[in-house]
Amino acid sequence: MIDTHAHLSKRFCPAVAGFANLDAVILAASNIEESKENVELAKENEGKLWAAVGIHPQQTDPKNKLSIDEQLNYLDDLVENNKKWVRAIGECGLDYSPVLDDERERSKKEQEILFRGQIALSIKHKLPIIVHSRKTLEEIMEIIKSYEEKTKGVIHCYTGGKKRIKNVLELGENWYFGIDGNLTYEEGLSEVVKLIPKDRLILETDSPFLTPIPHRGETNKPEYVKYVYQKLAEIWEMSFEETEKIVDQNARKLFAI
Ligand SMILES: [Zn+2]
Ligand SMILES: [Zn+2]
Repeated sequence: MIDTHAHLSKRFCPAVAGFANLDAVILAASNIEESKENVELAKENEGKLWAAVGIHPQQTDPKNKLSIDEQLNYLDDLVENNKKWVRAIGECGLDYSPVLDDERERSKKEQEILFRGQIALSIKHKLPIIVHSRKTLEEIMEIIKSYEEKTKGVIHCYTGGKKRIKNVLELGENWYFGIDGNLTYEEGLSEVVKLIPKDRLILETDSPFLTPIPHRGETNKPEYVKYVYQKLAEIWEMSFEETEKIVDQNARKLFAI
C-alpha cells in the first residue's frame, strides 16, 4: 500500500508515525519549511518516505518573508540538490476558499503566478505535479493545457464530480485522480470513482485530515489509507490484493518509486 499524499511535518504531526505497514508514502509540502522537512524525512527513511516540495496556493511563509520568485528559486535549488529524494512538486494550485488562521490570503493573480512557477519547475525537473484545487478545477485545467510541454501529475483529493473526469483525462496519459478517506463516508464519491479508469487512480490520506471510517474524529495517519483501499476494492468488486496491485502500480509509475 502507498499513501500518495500525507503531511508529516512538525506543524501537523509532532511525532512522525503511522507508516510502518506501508510500502511508501509521498510527503506533500505546503510551504518552504515543510519542503525542507520533507527532504530530511525522506533522507532519514530512505526508500519508504519520498519528498514532494512545493507551496500551497494559500500558504505564505511567515518566517521567511520571501517573495514568490525567491520561494520558487529556493524550491528549484532544493530539487536540484536532492534529486534522489524529491519525487514531485506540490502541493500547488488554486484555492479561493477562506483562509485558515495561520495563512494570509493570496490574490488570484498571485496564486496563478505561484502555480505557473511550480508547473515550470515540474517541467524543468521532469517531476509530476501534485495539484490542489478547491472549486477551481476549470481554471486549473486551462492553465495546465496552456503548456506545450508534456506535463504529468495528480489532481489530489479529486472533487470534480462525474462531469469533469473527461477533462482531467484530456490533460494527458500521465494525469491521475487522487482519492482520499472521504470515499468511505461520501455516498456520491463512490459513483464518481466507478467512472474513473482503473489505471488513472491513486489513493491518499491527506493526513492529518480527512480521516476515514472507522476512525472519523481522530487524527488521520498514512496507515489508514488501508480503509480507502478496502472501500475501493468493494467499489471495483475485486479482492483487496488485486486492487492494491493496480493502485500501487499507478502510484509507482507516476512518482517513479
Ligand atoms: Zn490539498
Ligand atoms: Zn494536502
